[in-house]
Amino acid sequence: MPKPLSRAEIEAMFARFASAEPNPKGELGFLNPFTLLVAVVLSAQATDKGVNRATPALFAVADTPQKMLALGEARLRDYIKTIGLYRGKARNIIGLSKRLVEEFGGQVPRDREVLETLPGVGRKTANVVLNTAFGEPLIAVDTHVFRVSNRTGLAIGKTPLAVEAALSRRVPERYRLHAHHWLILHGRYVCLARRPNCPACLIRDICHFKDKTIDVLAPPSSSSSRPAGSARASARQGKPRVKRSPAAAKLSRRPAASPRGK
Ligand code: SF4
Repeated sequence: MPKPLSRAEIEAMFARFASAEPNPKGELGFLNPFTLLVAVVLSAQATDKGVNRATPALFAVADTPQKMLALGEARLRDYIKTIGLYRGKARNIIGLSKRLVEEFGGQVPRDREVLETLPGVGRKTANVVLNTAFGEPLIAVDTHVFRVSNRTGLAIGKTPLAVEAALSRRVPERYRLHAHHWLILHGRYVCLARRPNCPACLIRDICHFKDKTIDVLAPPSSSSSRPAGSARASARQGKPRVKRSPAAAKLSRRPAASPRGK
């Protein structure tokens, strides 16, 4: 368990994220609050890329709850069958569309407790929708936010709810609107689960994680019999294999003058 970050360290951490990427965005494609809600429901235990491959065609024919109901569950399944757990997700999307039409005039309610009563919508999904569609300063805790918060000492907790509560207390108010996206992008592209890319980390000198990875100094070996793309070959060349979006690339730059020894 790392030592909790101090207030000054938390301020410095978010100041760097804000300086590197002042306006971070999520990576799920959507057109309006309803399509955002559908995309987030589809993204459970699936990748954003996988969801983004399926949703443009779906949203072209069903970008409102009314159109989704008209499409029907069977045809909806056809649009999303490349996404894991698609049968249950199709059932939930039709169920939530029906509730939105019958009880909320076809609008997505701006209320977490109400959102959580919709089929397939939990606290994390509700927080993402409220944050991204309505600009509420809420921090949804997914696997990346949970890991980065605990690893760095930003917000320590054994459950997503405990981490969310700690983040709400500890993240300065002016950073809360974007904290969710900064932490997700950082966890997805830099502070990876199996091998965090600490040498390229923007907050390396602030983070309290004890087992930070280090630069690999050995030069690449031309006599290697392993394939050039293997994880081990990449590590030998000092290049951890990291997928990065343009936003993530900004978040992984080192500060110009990073204190040594951390
Ligand atoms: S220094 Fe390493 S462990 Fe800490 S936040 Fe950066 S990538 Fe993650």
